[in-house]
Amino acid sequence: MPLQVITVPCLKDNFAFLAHDPDSGATAVVDVPEAAPILKALDDRGWRATDVLLTHHHADHVQGLAALQAGLAAPVRVTGAAADAHRLPPLDRAVSPGDSVMVGGVEGRVIDVSGHTVGHVAYAFPGVAFTGDSLMALGCGRLFEGTAQMMWDSLMRLAALPPDTRICSGHDYLDGNLAFARSVEPDNAAADARLTHARQKGAEAVHVTLDEERASNPFLRAVLPEVKAALGLAGASDSETFAELRRRKDAF
Ligand code: ZN
Ligand code: FE
Repeated sequence: MPLQVITVPCLKDNFAFLAHDPDSGATAVVDVPEAAPILKALDDRGWRATDVLLTHHHADHVQGLAALQAGLAAPVRVTGAAADAHRLPPLDRAVSPGDSVMVGGVEGRVIDVSGHTVGHVAYAFPGVAFTGDSLMALGCGRLFEGTAQMMWDSLMRLAALPPDTRICSGHDYLDGNLAFARSVEPDNAAADARLTHARQKGAEAVHVTLDEERASNPFLRAVLPEVKAALGLAGASDSETFAELRRRKDAF
C-alpha cells in the first residue's frame, strides 16, 4: 500500500508531513519546524513515529527535533544528507543521492535537489515526493547557496518522477507565488484554480501532483516557448529562462 500522507502546518508558513505505512505501522516525520503540532497530529491518529527525514539544515526545518524526540515514547531514526551531516542535528542514517530509504515496508529514494542550499535532498516515494525548499507549491526555493543552473538541474530531476507524484514542499507561499505566476502568465487559469482549491480545502489541498504543478508553476514552465517569449527571452535555454524567472521573483 502507498504511504498515507498528512500535512502538518507549523510556525507561520512551514509544513511538516507525516508519512505512514499502514502495513507496518511505521510513520516518518518529514522536517521538524516545531514539535507540538507534529506530536498532536501523531496523537490524533494513534500513530507512532519511527523515522524523521530531514530535507536540509535550515533552522525552520530542524529546530523542533530535540523537543519532538523528548515528547515521543520511543526513539526515532533520524535521516539526513551525509553531505550536510556537519550542520544537521545528529543523524542515525546519513544518506547520499541515489540511496534508498525505507519507511516501514515502503521504499523511497534520495534525490539531490541542491540550489536553495547545497546538500539539500528530496525523498521520493511511490506517489509522493518530499521536496523541502526546492520545488514548492506554485514556486521554488530561493537560491541561498547554489546557482540557478544547480536548481534547474534539481527541478528537472524532480520533473522526471512519475507525473502523478504528489509534490509535498516545506512552505505555504501560495499567495505570493500566485501573484508572481500571474505576472508571468496572466491567462494561466490552472494557477488560479489551485489557490481557489487550497482556500476551500485547506492545508491538505496545497500540494498537488507533478502534472498539475507543471501546468501552473512558472518555474517548471521555463521550458515553454510562450513563457520564454513572455519574458523577452525567445530562443534562450531552459536554464537561462529559469534563472531570469528566479531573479524576477526575488525582486517581485
Ligand atoms: Zn530553507
Ligand atoms: Fe524553509
